[in-house]
Amino acid sequence: MSKEITSRQQDYSQWYNDLVLKGELADYSAVRGCMVIKPYGFALWENMRDVLDRKFKDTGHVNAYFPLLVPKSLFEAEEKNAEGFAKECAVVTHYRLKTDPEKHGKLMVDPEARLEEELIIRPTSEAIIWNTYKGWIQSYRDLPLLINQWANVMRWEMRTRLFLRTAEFLWQEGHTAHATSEEAVAETVQMLDVYADFVEKYMALPVIKGVKTESERFAGAVDTYCIEALMQDGKALQAGTSHFLGQNFAKAFDVKYSDKNNKLDYVWATSWGVSTRLIGALVMAHSDDDGLILPPKIAPLQVVIVPIYKGDEQRGMIKEVMNPVVKMLKELGISVKYDDSDNSRPGWKFAEYEKKGVPVRIAVGARDLENNVVEVARRDTKEKMSVSMEGISYYIKTLLDEIQLNMFEKARIYRDEHITKVNTWNEFVNTLETKAGFVSAHWDGTAETEAAIKEKTKATIRCIPLNNEQESGKCILTGNPSTQRVLFAQAY
Ligand code: AMP
Repeated sequence: MSKEITSRQQDYSQWYNDLVLKGELADYSAVRGCMVIKPYGFALWENMRDVLDRKFKDTGHVNAYFPLLVPKSLFEAEEKNAEGFAKECAVVTHYRLKTDPEKHGKLMVDPEARLEEELIIRPTSEAIIWNTYKGWIQSYRDLPLLINQWANVMRWEMRTRLFLRTAEFLWQEGHTAHATSEEAVAETVQMLDVYADFVEKYMALPVIKGVKTESERFAGAVDTYCIEALMQDGKALQAGTSHFLGQNFAKAFDVKYSDKNNKLDYVWATSWGVSTRLIGALVMAHSDDDGLILPPKIAPLQVVIVPIYKGDEQRGMIKEVMNPVVKMLKELGISVKYDDSDNSRPGWKFAEYEKKGVPVRIAVGARDLENNVVEVARRDTKEKMSVSMEGISYYIKTLLDEIQLNMFEKARIYRDEHITKVNTWNEFVNTLETKAGFVSAHWDGTAETEAAIKEKTKATIRCIPLNNEQESGKCILTGNPSTQRVLFAQAY
């Protein structure tokens, strides 16, 4: 069964596509660069969304919704942001189609229905939101304004890849307004911590928190903070970003507040987002050649029970014994499916649930009933155990926690083993070629050197880690002095 999945060693990127498609997370669509998220993939997204949404609310944020279309004049207002996103914008120019007089049954844009002002399909919503905030913020009493939006955005990406980089994607974008710079920076860091905590504790994926260099910074930001994760092929993936926007958007949209002494000042801003890319990260970081391996805390289905029976009598008997187990598991808050469907054999079902990454499988046959045991198989290690029916639900609950921790540990060890310190250009190139992962090296701090290194090796500076130690050294490319190491990697 697993043979239908290309192995990682054979072709890593085909392996990834196989998992997404055959694990039923997503499908290709008729629209270039856009995918269909299938019910199983969407259930995963919903679980991620629910946890994040709770965390946002726990930190004082509320949800709202802003329009999909942004008038071009608003979009242009913050020049750097506009310039940065311009090359990826889809633009609405007309509001009506009409029957083509020359081609029967075909439609054409009605030249008379040209919009006076073009509308941009949002690639990000700072412009429309800050234009709205202008009407909402007058005094210090209106601050802080802590709003999040769950939405779709569109970036006309040239090279797309299921979940990791699509033209349309789902995300959340937080947009906050503050009275002081310090408060806005604290918010930026707080939301980075929220992301890191979510990715580590729920997705079982260790991340490195850091700050982007100027050339990797979000267009219109003063500082971009990020979390970077490592995939199994040694490439890095930016898993989330949190931006300190300074007063750039407040100035562009003239958003001022009066302080307690009636003094007027521009408002300070942040924005932060994670997207459906996180699903791609999950797939790439944990799965194996048999299929997905999903962390229990966000798996759409945590436990599947597959009875092995001959005939209706046995089928009924097993069901009767297992019904209370299903009930108990549900009472413990565990999602469970009892699959005694007649249209496929147990072996096929095993492979199918393995492919879909269900963390725990319980198999039970007539002989097991006599011995009062079941067979428990964990997806992460593929271990199988014969377990007594006595207290089985608590056993499963503990096992799910153990799987969650084990997945994190495995990924953490892999990540830690793939951070290599180098001091010379040769070491740098060698490490990238033979080992991949993060390479910790000195850089002279200039955009030119960063670009030259990227040109020569495809490796980019993923981040300057937070709480980085100061250490004097020499840039690996130019030999110029440097005060700290940064993390390089080839990235998705
Ligand atoms: P940004 O607004 O560029 O900081 O991106 C916010 C989040 O969306 C980051 O976590 C990115 O990794 C993610 N992201 C950016 N572009 C895409 C894309 N084309 N497809 C999926 N996720 C994306």
